[in-house]
Amino acid sequence: MNTQNPSLPFFDITRQYKEIKSEVMSTFEKILDAQACIGGAYVTEFEKSAAQWVGAKHAVTVASGMDALILGLKAIGVKAGDEVITPAFSFFGSTGAITWINAKPVWVDIHKDSYCLNVDQVKKKITSKTKAIMPVHLYGQCADMDALMKLSKETGIPVIEDTAQSIGASYKGKPAGGIGHVGAISFYPTKNLGGAGDGGMIVTNDELISQQAMLLKNHGMPKRYTYAMLGSNSRLDALQCAYLNIKLKHLKKWNERRAEIAGQYIKNLKDLESKGLVLPVTMEGNKHVFHQFVIRVKDRDQVKARLAELGVPTDIYYPQAIPDESVLKEFRNPAEKFPVAEECAQTVLALPIFPELTQKEIDTIIAGVRKAL
Ligand SMILES: *Cc1c(COP(=O)(O)O)cnc(C)c1O
Repeated sequence: MNTQNPSLPFFDITRQYKEIKSEVMSTFEKILDAQACIGGAYVTEFEKSAAQWVGAKHAVTVASGMDALILGLKAIGVKAGDEVITPAFSFFGSTGAITWINAKPVWVDIHKDSYCLNVDQVKKKITSKTKAIMPVHLYGQCADMDALMKLSKETGIPVIEDTAQSIGASYKGKPAGGIGHVGAISFYPTKNLGGAGDGGMIVTNDELISQQAMLLKNHGMPKRYTYAMLGSNSRLDALQCAYLNIKLKHLKKWNERRAEIAGQYIKNLKDLESKGLVLPVTMEGNKHVFHQFVIRVKDRDQVKARLAELGVPTDIYYPQAIPDESVLKEFRNPAEKFPVAEECAQTVLALPIFPELTQKEIDTIIAGVRKAL
């Protein structure tokens, strides 16, 4: 495998680290010398600059993207037994956050061009128990937020945006994560803004939701040893916040480079659409940040194997529709079908995309896909 280009990786995070290493080292030294590891200026400074960067009024850092979803759901009042509508095709964490608080995931299929939830189907799934709608801005672009926010306004049901893959994306000029009532961002190292470990952030324009999130992530304590609610510990430490703040200064450039690489792939593979290749579509009004560059091909597993032989690594996000996961069978109505999600699980294939790919590597990937098809 990978005999022709042994050095072409699917993702290489060490390249990006070289760009920031000296600044990280000197900052980490300061923090560690002072042993000021929890809370403090580096945390508040990052929250302030991240809120501003994203375009939301408030940002509350937490321990992971999953915790941003869990605490975000709690902050908007979702409780055990409530229903939350979410797409049938995503990383498991979106549904996983709902089940973790003993709420019930209610799935809808996705739109075949955007890979985000189908808002027409959301309408049909609303019941008196629906207490939130959770779109997932998959692969780097937003769901149809105009239609969704209209529905939210009509029904009074709040929207929590799973923005784990889409920091910096926007929809009709509005920032991903800052359109609904609350947004959840992940800093898992492979995300567009990746930490030096796990991390996440809740963003919101609602002061009350931000206060709830602050309490939930710190034992429900507004003041030391005074408890306003039952909380957890989901603090993000000063080292992570300092690291992320250093990277944040580069994020615009890195996101633009991802989009530029995506543009090269699209331009040079466009003619293969006549052979059944499906390329990513940027939906109207969207700024796409290409967390992943996902194509669809019919004989996906053979194409993947041929690409591997040509030295082009690929990956599959995701190999199964969420409702088909056996650990979720208690929530699954077997009569319900999610045809688009199920077809995508069989046909999606992600090409390497990260800002530090070289032109030679990009050319190799394009040539490889052309040959493999
Ligand atoms: C990564 C991801 C999460 C979870 O984030 P973690 O930081 O890994 O907990 C949730 N939803 C989606 C869509 C993701 O891609």
